[in-house]
Amino acid sequence: MSNPDVIVVGAGVIGLTTAIRLQEAGATVRIRTAELTADTTSAAATGMCGPVFQSPTATWEMATVAELRRIAGPETGVRLETGLGAVTAKVGGPPPLADESMLIRAAKPEELPAGYHDGMWMRVPLVDLPVYLDYLVTRFTGDGGKIEQRMVETLELDAELVVNCSGVGARKLAGDPSVRPVKGQHVVVENPGLDGFFLGITGRPENAGWHTYGKHVLLGGVRVEGDWDPAPSPEIAAGILRRCVEIEPRFADAKVMGHRAGLRPCRPSVRLEAEVRGSTKIVHNYGHDGSGVLQSWGCADEAAALLLG
Ligand SMILES: Cc1cc2nc3c(=O)[nH]c(=O)nc-3n(C[C@H](O)[C@H](O)[C@H](O)COP(=O)(O)OP(=O)(O)OC[C@H]3O[C@@H](n4cnc5c(N)ncnc54)[C@H](O)[C@@H]3O)c2cc1C
Repeated sequence: MSNPDVIVVGAGVIGLTTAIRLQEAGATVRIRTAELTADTTSAAATGMCGPVFQSPTATWEMATVAELRRIAGPETGVRLETGLGAVTAKVGGPPPLADESMLIRAAKPEELPAGYHDGMWMRVPLVDLPVYLDYLVTRFTGDGGKIEQRMVETLELDAELVVNCSGVGARKLAGDPSVRPVKGQHVVVENPGLDGFFLGITGRPENAGWHTYGKHVLLGGVRVEGDWDPAPSPEIAAGILRRCVEIEPRFADAKVMGHRAGLRPCRPSVRLEAEVRGSTKIVHNYGHDGSGVLQSWGCADEAAALLLG
């Protein structure tokens, strides 16, 4: 097929990057989505893209990091940022990295907050999702892509080629009971004068982390299993603030500018495979849990190859 017609279900980061890769391969692409991009889980994410460890998903992640480094700039919302990742366990250094250039150095004990025993300074792409998603929408529609807002009840649609990028919606749409929501949330505060980021890993569902985006900072660090409510919760927000103030007291007086929440599409592993139903070829691309931004371009490359190959 020289100019195939494709419908991509979903306008989050996975749907948009997949749609763009299909367009670049010559397809005519329509996105069909229940929510507009600004209301998706993707819009609530931190957008930290690294470090990349040696793992089965490293190829996707390295492809994304390469694309993000290529397009970095104020107009895309992508920048390279330096920060500290710290763990409460004594681990004796990070597991093997797939991209050594991200590691700056091991943290000194005096650089770690109380209760943390190991850490590393790293430099990774940090994505300001609202700006970045606008950029992706413009890149897609500017090349002739259409976005239609409507709920989809079946993957057998009015195109012979379909990509399913429905995130947590895949539980119902693809009839996949292994998909479950893991809620995450951010408190958005005015930046009290910080640079970079801090990512604390405790091994518990409640962590503390903050990432700076110029005038504002996202405070976060929760994973609430099985919660289908996408609205920010005041109790979760209070816990995030308390934990972040323990690490960085300057957040105590920072003005709260807003709240963001989203449902991470959790699954034992990402589903990236083709299926044929009657005359429709469907590629599934969902289940990225807390790494959808990081894995997006690599998965988009593979999804496009599976669909058009
Ligand atoms: C607080 C938080 C912080 C995060 N931080 C990071 C991070 O630092 N780095 C990182 O890589 N990832 C992070 N993530 C994870 C990341 O946000 C997700 O992995 C990613 O957004 C998933 O993208 P998606 O496009 O699959 O899903 P979504 O963004 O949820 O998009 C799904 C799309 O499918 C549509 N849809 C669903 N069902 C239907 C249907 N039946 N009909 C029509 N449309 C449908 C929806 O309307 C939506 O447009 C974070 C997540 C949260 C919540």
